[in-house]
Amino acid sequence: MRQEIVKSDVTVIGGGLAGVCAAIAAARLGQTVSLVQNRPVLGGNSSSEVRVWVCGATGHGVNRYARETGIMGELFAENQYRNPEGNPYLWDLVVLEAVRAESRITLFLNTDVHEVAMEPGDGELRRIQSATGWMMGSERKITFQSDMFLDCTGDGLLGCLAGADFRIGREARHEFNEDWAPEIADDITLGSTILFYTKDEGQPVRFVPPSFAKRIEETSIPIRRVIRSGDSGCHYWWIEWGGELDTVHENEAIRDELWSVIYGIWDYIKNSGKFEAENMTLEWVGSLPGKREYRRFVGDYVLNQNDIIAQRPFDDRVAFGGWSIDLHPPQGMYAQESGSKHYHPDGIYHIPFRSLYSCNVGNLMFAGRNISASHVAFGTTRVMATCAVMGEAAGTGAALCARDGVTPRELHAVRLEELQQTLLRQDASIIGLRNQDAHDMARSAKAAASSVLTKLSTGASAGTYALSHPAGLLFPVAGKLDKLKLLVDVVDAETPSELTISLYGTGRPENYIPAELIQSLAIVVPSGKEQWVEVPFHYETNEPCNVFVTIEGHEGVRLHQSAQPLFGVLCFAGRDGSSPDFAHFMESQKTIAWSMDGLNRTPFCAVVEPETEAYAPASIINGYTRPYGGPQLWMSEAMSEGGEEWISLTWEQEVAASEIRIIFNDDVNEDLINLHHHRTPFEILPELVRDYRLEGLTEQGWRTLHRETGNRKRLRVHRLERPEAITALRLVVESTNGSPYAQVVEIRVYE
Ligand SMILES: Cc1cc2nc3c(=O)[nH]c(=O)nc-3n(C[C@H](O)[C@H](O)[C@H](O)COP(=O)(O)OP(=O)(O)OC[C@H]3O[C@@H](n4cnc5c(N)ncnc54)[C@H](O)[C@@H]3O)c2cc1C
Repeated sequence: MRQEIVKSDVTVIGGGLAGVCAAIAAARLGQTVSLVQNRPVLGGNSSSEVRVWVCGATGHGVNRYARETGIMGELFAENQYRNPEGNPYLWDLVVLEAVRAESRITLFLNTDVHEVAMEPGDGELRRIQSATGWMMGSERKITFQSDMFLDCTGDGLLGCLAGADFRIGREARHEFNEDWAPEIADDITLGSTILFYTKDEGQPVRFVPPSFAKRIEETSIPIRRVIRSGDSGCHYWWIEWGGELDTVHENEAIRDELWSVIYGIWDYIKNSGKFEAENMTLEWVGSLPGKREYRRFVGDYVLNQNDIIAQRPFDDRVAFGGWSIDLHPPQGMYAQESGSKHYHPDGIYHIPFRSLYSCNVGNLMFAGRNISASHVAFGTTRVMATCAVMGEAAGTGAALCARDGVTPRELHAVRLEELQQTLLRQDASIIGLRNQDAHDMARSAKAAASSVLTKLSTGASAGTYALSHPAGLLFPVAGKLDKLKLLVDVVDAETPSELTISLYGTGRPENYIPAELIQSLAIVVPSGKEQWVEVPFHYETNEPCNVFVTIEGHEGVRLHQSAQPLFGVLCFAGRDGSSPDFAHFMESQKTIAWSMDGLNRTPFCAVVEPETEAYAPASIINGYTRPYGGPQLWMSEAMSEGGEEWISLTWEQEVAASEIRIIFNDDVNEDLINLHHHRTPFEILPELVRDYRLEGLTEQGWRTLHRETGNRKRLRVHRLERPEAITALRLVVESTNGSPYAQVVEIRVYE
């Protein structure tokens, strides 16, 4: 047996997505990092050991333009390229390779941390001196010493051993005035789950159940839950138990109960005669219960339900989420009610930095399911892409604290702006916050482009859409809106049809719902095909914004749809309010009432007048790097075959450029998924620029500084071999990954 001491600037315990992103973020800022994970693979609940699919702010398409950027965005895009089929082992590799790409991270797999030593002294804040773990299979006892520690263990053992304040269970309703909280506080948590995969062998396969398999027909499960023979993995998220137990200390008993139910369900599917499952077999059954909830640390702020619903724009926001508040009944799979209930705010919400550090341990931060949030707020922050963006924020905060020798509380008090600007520079998203980096020389340049898309027109018809329910259309307005034209068929009607078409504001720049009515018009449409119907709206705005147009449902009327997506324009189907599934959502949950299912990338054929400035070249230096009250990018006119488009920055005086950072458009509206939930039809987002070159205007004229081919990433950082004295910089787009338009979100230039 060996005893070792490992010193690093930052130690991250727990290698789920929160821990992985925290470690990568700190390492990219120049800190040495020990990443300590007690399993043989990274990824936590998303790993091939548990196989939960990674959800985030898009809420599987409920929220628009809501996909995460930064490190989580990179993982999504890389997985989409390498693993569009959603193979869990290939996802493991994507995560592992992202960690291995960072030379400052030392990874300790199979290392379970279970001891903590505190620094001597009795100051106001306790401090962790070291954490010690046992590396299984190697007989190594390793003590990790660092300036900063991050507890990303989910269960929160590190912080608990350090004496950090934490909570387990549900707060009473009155504590945060949360109407989804119980009247009286209790220690109930969400339960744990084991998943399983099945496959068709192509020939009959027998199943002899183990002696401990539960007789499922004697439980309420077949009546209360959906059992189908072809389902796998997360379809069985509802096999949940342990919410009324202690999900850590009774983990073994919970596993045994879950196994007994899984084999019982499989016995029921195979042997009850009620399913077509003769050729089906079990391909994989998990052995680790996936834990949903245990300790939640107390930070300087406890995020709660009202913050989520109000989308409270904290001054210290460092991350965002968008999954519904998703809570489950304590009895889990045995509950008589539905396995989950959901509350969707009107759009994405914000997470404050104060929820990511301990209120009483000075060098402890956390990210993931153990952050400082009430049980109800945890119901949404717990999904993994949200855990990951919190991880990036906490890792960034820890890196700055380690670098400057300050506590997270001090960082919050005096260097909050630096923290937020550092995150933005790394392409993490803080909604509604602009780049204000004083070192970015692009901000003082003038932007121009070879061409700009000014005509908001979604292209030729490729089919029609029956207007049996209301439809919606969202587009940007920068200045004036005079007219909307829609391509419409009125079939089987002898008399003209009257359509009510209404214009709404979206409420907030980050929301995509019809919030405030601006104008409503009754438009008469004669019977006939392919008619351009004119809607004479009159609207003017000083601030660029999105508008949401609703078109009343009308049997016999069809809208034409284009096959050519236009970034910034979205189409919606109003859900049928009479459907029992959605009736209770209609009034208060507008994101659910308007769905993009089946309409993504196929906008209604529409023309907006007058011409728009929403895609102007100056968008690349306005500080926003994702849609926010408009598309927030430069878009060229459609590129000609073999032609090029460019965008340039010009300075009045020469600048010395050493580093150029470019953000390309990777359509954050597209919902990517790491496992098998749904398949996105392309491996590389088509809007991404593929081949490009950077040219600088020097005393000798234009010079190529860099040429890139085959790009498939959103953020590209080019460090020039030596500083270049230039008065202008030009990004020449030679080709894209499929879109007819050249699109650039941001360019930054550093000395
Ligand atoms: C069945 C189930 C379904 C869910 N459904 C979804 C879903 O569809 N989509 C979604 O995004 N989220 C879902 N969630 C929630 C989500 O999986 C968790 O909230 C999320 O995994 C938390 O991320 P994390 O990084 O904080 O923790 P984890 O993913 O739990 O990762 C923590 C890691 O730390 C390791 N660790 C723990 N203790 C120690 C220690 N002492 N020393 C070293 N390492 C340690 C653990 O082994 C683990 O690998 C679900 C959860 C479950 C269980």
